[in-house]
Amino acid sequence: MGALMSTTYIALDLGGTRVRAARCRDDGTIEARAETFTHGEDGLDAVLGRIANVTRQVWPGTPPAAVGVGAPGPLDPYTGEIFNAPNIPAFVGLNLRNRLRDIFQIPVYVGNDANVAALAEWRYGAARGHSDVVYLTISTGIGGGVITDNKLLLGKSGLAAELGHVTVNYQGRPDKCGNIGCLEALASGPAIRQIAIERLEAGEASLLRERVAGDLSQVSVELLHAAARQGDALANSVIYDAAVAIGFGVVSFLHAFDPSIVVIGGGVSNLGSLLFEPVRAIALKHIMDPRYQVPIVEAELKENVGLLGALALALDPPAQREA
Ligand SMILES: [Zn+2]
Repeated sequence: MGALMSTTYIALDLGGTRVRAARCRDDGTIEARAETFTHGEDGLDAVLGRIANVTRQVWPGTPPAAVGVGAPGPLDPYTGEIFNAPNIPAFVGLNLRNRLRDIFQIPVYVGNDANVAALAEWRYGAARGHSDVVYLTISTGIGGGVITDNKLLLGKSGLAAELGHVTVNYQGRPDKCGNIGCLEALASGPAIRQIAIERLEAGEASLLRERVAGDLSQVSVELLHAAARQGDALANSVIYDAAVAIGFGVVSFLHAFDPSIVVIGGGVSNLGSLLFEPVRAIALKHIMDPRYQVPIVEAELKENVGLLGALALALDPPAQREA
């Protein structure tokens, strides 16, 4: 390979709290990384300036082939327009791809963070070698990504695979998205915490009450996890209910997409067997044909998933439209 041939890429992981940048090779090697706080409340020019600055810190001597960007919230992966941006209000309506292309003068591709995380697990992580993948990330929200025949499912507007907003209980809790009984309203980190607090407020016995010295605002998924491992009935019950909701969601995803593997990541996946055993049991019990039975596994990439997803997007971008 010629020395001048560019094989490096820039990966940008735009989060509500942090902006991470990395110089990567196409095999997934991260050669350099930098990060800064997002401070989305400071406005558009300030945030774009921080993105440019953090990217400059990892920029290679010869221009990289492309920049891949993973961004939170719904966006148009064909044009790079941001439809909604939690914690970065100034990005709403912005064509982020075009703005960054003007700054960097090389091709830029923008993808939803959960979608690009699915690409990362497919190319570099737990779903390597699989052509059909369902990916779920369970943390503050629940995001998803679907790969069908080695291609990310995007839909006509690029809004496909919002797996956290499928209804698993239409008589359930309203979700802030406008739908009712979404997976996210039942099994995201904040939902699990809220349900635990409500049950504690209702007077159920639990180790948690003394763990937080009576201050229920201190209840967290981590404390629930620890209490559950010590045999606390309430903690086990709250986690089990969330796992069952995820399990029924997964049954629907198996029926809808017929994947060869299901990968679950995000902070809530750290619950380990407390989450995965009920999810696997529900899936096994409720699939309508044994052919739907596939591995349901924990994600592999952990804290690098956002950067590797942005890299995977840059390597395999959807056809772009000008906007
Ligand atoms: Zn929802």
